[in-house]
Amino acid sequence: MKNGLYIVATPIGNLQDMSQRAIEVLQEADTIACEDTRVTKKLFSLLGISLHKNFITLHDHNEDEQAQKIIDCVLSGQSVAQVSDAGSPLISDPGYKLIKQCKQAGIYITAIPGCCAFVTALQLSGLPTNRFMFVGFIPNKDKARADLFKKYKNLDATLIFYETAPRLLKTLTVAKDVFGNREMSVARELTKVYEECQTAPAEDLIAYYTENPPKGEMVFMVSPATEEEKEEIDVEELLKEKLQTISLKTAVKEIVEAYGLNKNDVYEQALRIKNAK
Ligand code: SAM
Repeated sequence: MKNGLYIVATPIGNLQDMSQRAIEVLQEADTIACEDTRVTKKLFSLLGISLHKNFITLHDHNEDEQAQKIIDCVLSGQSVAQVSDAGSPLISDPGYKLIKQCKQAGIYITAIPGCCAFVTALQLSGLPTNRFMFVGFIPNKDKARADLFKKYKNLDATLIFYETAPRLLKTLTVAKDVFGNREMSVARELTKVYEECQTAPAEDLIAYYTENPPKGEMVFMVSPATEEEKEEIDVEELLKEKLQTISLKTAVKEIVEAYGLNKNDVYEQALRIKNAK
């Protein structure tokens, strides 16, 4: 196998989702970069992959120094495979800094794609898939949670979050306060025996999960803002506020991105405000 870095997806619950190419790459790699060696070694044992390899741990807090070790391995002629505890590396998992540094070092990098919880959840949700925003984990503090939801409230895209079972009801309650009774979806235990995906207005989901306390790993999704909801934003006010501190171009860009609005419309409005001054 050519020396370089191989980003390898692993299952999110069902062992049979491991691709043949992923198994072969892990079998042949000299070094494995992983999060928890116990989790990865267990996976290797289940798949019959040799454990006689060099294992390097990679976490958010040590990524810079570990990246250098990995680069040294590749430059000495080794093939390094990077896995996370489950699913696709780099997706709410470490790896971004490693890839950046490997690219700077001119190292060969390839990815062996496979499971990713949010993609599977979106497919099952019945919510629009033409445009979506993967936001990642939801903070646990009430204000931070509400602020995060408010930031994306008016986006014309399905919102996707990672969440844990003990926090789901709190998250649903805050989500209902911020988004109103929009359609939302909870996809749990994907690819596993008790896989479930419930899609319903917020109030119905709260009632359902109060009756049936949720367990396991989950993905939480919120349907896009409706046209009426988007119109409620006071773009004029937002522009006036932003134009006091940043350039017209940046103000327009920020508002368009944050609220999923038409760029030309916002630009024209900004010009009118500026010229009226
Ligand atoms: N890299 C992974 C991926 O590709 O999806 C995600 C890693 S992140 C640390 C773990 C979170 O992913 C969990 O807290 C949960 O929100 C979600 N997740 C992972 N496996 C899942 C599953 N089988 N069903 C539902 N959600 C899952």
